[in-house]
Amino acid sequence: MQKLKAGAKELGLELTPARLEQFASYYKELIDWNRRVNLTAITDYEEVRLKHFLDSLTIILAWPQATQKDLRLIDVGTGAGLPGIPLKIAFPEIKLALLEATAKKAEFLRHIVQKLGLDDVEIVAGRAEEVAHQARYREKFDLVLSRAVAALPTLVELTLPFCAVGGSFIAQKKGTVDDEINRAAGAIGLLGGSLREVKKVALPAFPDERCLVVIDKLSPTPEKYPRRLGIPAKRPLG
Ligand code: SAH
Repeated sequence: MQKLKAGAKELGLELTPARLEQFASYYKELIDWNRRVNLTAITDYEEVRLKHFLDSLTIILAWPQATQKDLRLIDVGTGAGLPGIPLKIAFPEIKLALLEATAKKAEFLRHIVQKLGLDDVEIVAGRAEEVAHQARYREKFDLVLSRAVAALPTLVELTLPFCAVGGSFIAQKKGTVDDEINRAAGAIGLLGGSLREVKKVALPAFPDERCLVVIDKLSPTPEKYPRRLGIPAKRPLG
């Protein structure tokens, strides 16, 4: 776990032995469950620590509210808990919701949250298209995150409805994003958002190009969004 510790330090994060222990336990459970439930394609110890855990923590490079007390955060399409769980381990005070469509993955999430003894984590098993229309979740989060779920034009329709006005959405992306951002410009506006910045992630551990697309929520999302199940992917807005 020394590499994770060193990488986190470059991000300005000091991971205590207790937190590194939680990461070790997370890795162990992930690999164990991965035999039955398809949770991760990467299973190598070193790769999981860097490509999954450290990569999740890079969110803080674009996270102005890092010190905000009682920050409400939702991770949309979290899969095995990425980036939500690494962030919760590093910042135990956040209030975290993990949204995942696949029931078996949600089952793993319940297990791992209990195993790691994490408080204030809600597992929501469902599809963003439906959950985002429930009053309990709609426009209720200061920060919305999503990693490796969909292309930006689709993704913003699945995420911005969760974001409170004044909050923001951060998408973790690999490779060049200019084209994706251009295609999403219309959708971002329709949904009440505004592109703030594209922050490059430059850490020695990641030789490939990675970035954080930060979108601020300026006005409420019209009631009709997100559209019915599957439509945001089939017919992206804009
Ligand atoms: N964020 C994780 C998982 C990426 S895979 C990571 O970075 O490793 C994408 C995940 O999003 C899958 O687990 C899939 O079930 C979930 N997903 C896809 N579309 C969704 C939707 N509309 N609502 C909720 N979850 C969704």
